[in-house]
Amino acid sequence: MDLKALIRTIPDHPKPGILFRDITTLLADGPGFREVITRLAARYQDAGIAKVAGIEARGFILGGALADRLGAGFVPIRKSGKLPGATIGHDYELEYGVDRVEIHRDAVSPGERVVLIDDLIATGGTAEAGLVLLRRLEAEVVEAAFVIDLPELGGRRRLETTCPTFCLIAFEGH
Ligand code: AMP
Repeated sequence: MDLKALIRTIPDHPKPGILFRDITTLLADGPGFREVITRLAARYQDAGIAKVAGIEARGFILGGALADRLGAGFVPIRKSGKLPGATIGHDYELEYGVDRVEIHRDAVSPGERVVLIDDLIATGGTAEAGLVLLRRLEAEVVEAAFVIDLPELGGRRRLETTCPTFCLIAFEGH
């Protein structure tokens, strides 16, 4: 199945010069969504995964479906101030300014095998911050998985230096 054909590209969103790779059209296609989860589940089904950690917000949709298929738990990595329980957080640099992601302190136990998931890796900053949190909880991060890689932004290469990284498809450009 051609997953790329199911992803919509919206130029100049959220700002001029960005080609926004919109997965809502893929998620809205039943066979397409199932194909994504089937491919990811096939990759991790024998990997002893205890938890799938999804990055807000599109990582929740993919991660929830994947966790169910693997019989694993799901844990959210969220933007600052959203999680109700005791959290740890990590600040990371954006092009302009900083952002922060958080995870519940008790979301993962030491040694648990985890897959980190998001829809897309661009510069890798968001995923790297998620990885920092999981490692602070002493998770064993088996792999970071994405539907889309934007190779020209170098995030995958950067993340791969500290964590195995898997992407289903790639788009040229920014
Ligand atoms: P980064 O931290 O630079 O790897 O950015 C990754 C995060 O930003 C992911 O959560 C993506 O959903 C979102 N993102 C970055 N660039 C794009 C893009 N061109 N199209 C859609 N989402 C993007």
